Amino acid sequence: MLLFTPGPTPVPEAVRMAMSGPTIHHRTPEFEAIFKEARTRLMRLFGMDECVMLASTGTGAMEACVTNMCTKKVLTVNAGKFGERFGKIVEAFGLELVELKYGWDTPASIEDVKAALADDPDIDAFCIQVSESAGGLRHPVEEIAAMIKAVNPEIMVIADGITAVGVEPIDTTHIDALIAGSQKALMLPPGMAMVGLSDAAVRRIGGGTGYYLNLASEIKKQQKNTTAYTAPTTLIVGLNKVLEMIEEEGYDLFYRRTHARALATRAALEAIGCILYPKMPALSMSAVYDEEANMVRSILKTEFGVNIAGGQDHLKGKLFRINQMGLIPLHESAWVVNAVEWAYDRMDRRPYDGLASKVFNEVYFNTLSANEHA
Ligand SMILES: *Cc1c(COP(=O)(O)O)cnc(C)c1O
Repeated sequence: MLLFTPGPTPVPEAVRMAMSGPTIHHRTPEFEAIFKEARTRLMRLFGMDECVMLASTGTGAMEACVTNMCTKKVLTVNAGKFGERFGKIVEAFGLELVELKYGWDTPASIEDVKAALADDPDIDAFCIQVSESAGGLRHPVEEIAAMIKAVNPEIMVIADGITAVGVEPIDTTHIDALIAGSQKALMLPPGMAMVGLSDAAVRRIGGGTGYYLNLASEIKKQQKNTTAYTAPTTLIVGLNKVLEMIEEEGYDLFYRRTHARALATRAALEAIGCILYPKMPALSMSAVYDEEANMVRSILKTEFGVNIAGGQDHLKGKLFRINQMGLIPLHESAWVVNAVEWAYDRMDRRPYDGLASKVFNEVYFNTLSANEHA
């Protein structure tokens, strides 16, 4: 079965092999050397001043950023399940919440954020998803972050990049915390989160807050290539391998291939009549609005060996989502759009004529420059 859900994503064989060795004790020079390499590579991935790895899923990193970087009143963008989660975390810790709510297909607007900040000078932190996975939506995070810093550089900008870091280059000039998760774009098993931090974020964190998810304790230890508590050693070995593989390909080519694969998938789906759900689609996935999404998913699974994701909450049964994150073999993505075309044929929507594959291949190879194809 091809795993084509936008998280978890498949773990490449070389990474599984790297993780298959005996458990290394975390307080040893041997592990510290691996940690150091992974940390150095992670800094390059984030392009930020500091970073930490956390033994938690992505939500743990979201919580750590809220508890360690927000002190009073937080402005969040809720355009889906994950944006909603930031609000729930803020409330769980008794902080004041101002929420900008949008339809799950609608990106946040710079003007709305600006107006919310003008209304409320107590806001000292802002939380948003780079790519909101609920609807496959891309928010204009970099532009919003630049506006926020122009209004008040003291406001911490926390960006959940769990389906964006490792998908596309993100301009972190005005971002204070950028969150990544192991099981999405980084092609690892679930269980680890990573946070890139600005110097301003490190200053705001100060002595840290909380105990297990105290970012100050982690920063202090991780600067010395160790962790405050037992490190998720196997996942860090895997992370080091994934980042080595990406660096071997080169970030430029890696991002260009993901970009081309995303455009090719979108174009192929649209060519056979799919309706793309978000007004501003993320590169991490294609989300298609379809009243019979469950039927499409079921045919893909039983007849074509492809597992894609559905929708959540009010979009349950009305959305299907196809992953584009990671080092995906090109023929697998081409097979997935072909399978959707066959499913539409089975459902008497449109007779199969191979258009999805054709469009996928045309757009992919035309998007990459002629001498640098897959
Ligand atoms: C998956 C995801 C999360 C949450 O991750 P968990 O690892 O399940 O805690 C948060 N934000 C986004 C955008 C995600 O896609």
